[in-house]
Amino acid sequence: MHVGFLRPTTVEEAVAALAADEDARLLAGGQTLMATIATGLYRPSATISLAGVAELRGLRRLDDGTVRMGAMATHAEIAASPLFAGAQRLVPDAAGRIAYPAIRNAGTVGGACAHGDPASDWPAIAVAADARLHLAGPSGHRTVAAADFFVDFLTTALDPGEMIVAIDVPPRLRSFAVERIVRVAGDYATLSVLVALDHDGGLCRSVRIAVGSCGVRPLRDAGAEGLLIGRTVDRDTALAAGDRLAAMADPVGDVRASAAYRRRVMPALVSRAILGAMSA
Ligand SMILES: Cc1cc2nc3c(=O)[nH]c(=O)nc-3n(C[C@H](O)[C@H](O)[C@H](O)COP(=O)(O)OP(=O)(O)OC[C@H]3O[C@@H](n4cnc5c(N)ncnc54)[C@H](O)[C@@H]3O)c2cc1C
Repeated sequence: MHVGFLRPTTVEEAVAALAADEDARLLAGGQTLMATIATGLYRPSATISLAGVAELRGLRRLDDGTVRMGAMATHAEIAASPLFAGAQRLVPDAAGRIAYPAIRNAGTVGGACAHGDPASDWPAIAVAADARLHLAGPSGHRTVAAADFFVDFLTTALDPGEMIVAIDVPPRLRSFAVERIVRVAGDYATLSVLVALDHDGGLCRSVRIAVGSCGVRPLRDAGAEGLLIGRTVDRDTALAAGDRLAAMADPVGDVRASAAYRRRVMPALVSRAILGAMSA
């Protein structure tokens, strides 16, 4: 039975509340948690609201250009933030495409990453942005790269009793592009591709490509990126990278599309994103 509602004001208090009751759950925007409680799928002994923890709120730019997003920053706040520069801007650009305003106004980056739903946008955004997640738990603080954080379907690197405190977006690359296929406006993406890169004219110097909604975790492949680095990128090169990612992918079939459809459209979507970032 759902009995408790706690409202800590510091990260330490939130971690202590989690440690005191292994059946309690953190409450951020509540969009996923409240739905699972309301449908009876899940019955935590208590919810620990993070709404009163000031240090989890907002975004700030560090001296080295890193943008630190508090775990309770909403998709809408992130989408509207002027702090991002260069290829970091893929983060607000992609956050602004999530669902629709009601969802973006309540959903948080910490809740979305902790939930680890591979159909959602944040796992691929975080991997494309080379983000690092700051975690706090009973054993102290640690940092995990986004590439290591999303482990499997609804499974992340969070240990029992750990929470996300903040997510850093480093200032690495210059240009970016975001491409998504959605069945109808506001739906989860059928497939998403995010590209960050540096280029001199048509010559690609460095690139990160992340594909979302195509398997249990975001897809990134050094081989596909290697086809572009040090090369003049045209449509054929970009398509070759997309072909390679499609061959590596292990997409799921679900209500939005079959696995075969996702693999079929991936090369074109990847190539569109690469060429978009090269021309930015
Ligand atoms: C109708 C609808 C449409 C949506 N469409 C999209 C979409 O198109 N794309 C997309 O990406 N997302 C979409 N979402 C997801 C939504 O945007 C939220 O990101 C998501 O529901 C989780 O964020 P939240 O803040 O609501 O977390 P909550 O529901 O509060 O929490 C989710 C889980 O994370 C845990 N948690 C929360 N905060 C932390 C923390 N700081 N540390 C550790 N654990 C934590 C909770 O205990 C819970 O298990 C949609 C949601 C709905 C309801």
